[in-house]
Amino acid sequence: MAVAIYPGSFDPVTRGHLDIIKRAARIYDRLIVAVLINSAKRPLFTIEERVALLTECCKNIPNVTVQSFDGLTVDFARKCHATVMVRGLRAVTDFENEIQLAQTNHALMPGIETTFLATSIKWSYLSSTIVKEAARYGSDISKFVTPNVEKAIWDKIAALRAAGKEP
Ligand code: ADP
Repeated sequence: MAVAIYPGSFDPVTRGHLDIIKRAARIYDRLIVAVLINSAKRPLFTIEERVALLTECCKNIPNVTVQSFDGLTVDFARKCHATVMVRGLRAVTDFENEIQLAQTNHALMPGIETTFLATSIKWSYLSSTIVKEAARYGSDISKFVTPNVEKAIWDKIAALRAAGKEP
């Protein structure tokens, strides 16, 4: 049975991430979406919120589960008995960092392979950062994220502003 993990910050999950999840779930028997606890310095969403949003988005894909993890991705992969890491490649700008990560992970754990899925053209410009930036200025973000994520973003921004914090 081929178990794959799809690691990332998912702060928050976008339609680009979901495209990769759906496609990877068709390739591997089991896909674990692995949400990194301490990756971004100042994430908009807590780890519990990021996991909950992803879980809601993936609830209709039977072979996908969502888990959080801390520390090295290869250690988490080992714990899950995963042999594959899935990453999405958007543009050449992703390549340099991704190849370095894949080679480092392979050096740390020779049993793990990284597979890259080319982003659908539809989502190649999209990132969680862009969604958050657009939302800060009140733009329509419904194209980029699912309705539950959109609502969570508006609620979070409103809560932060109500507390006198700039999101
Ligand atoms: P990280 O913090 O590791 O960059 P992200 O949560 O931003 O994690 O992304 C996780 C993975 O999803 C990465 O492999 C990234 O390249 C991929 N990804 C991000 N945005 C998109 C997108 N729009 N389409 C396809 N893949 C994407």
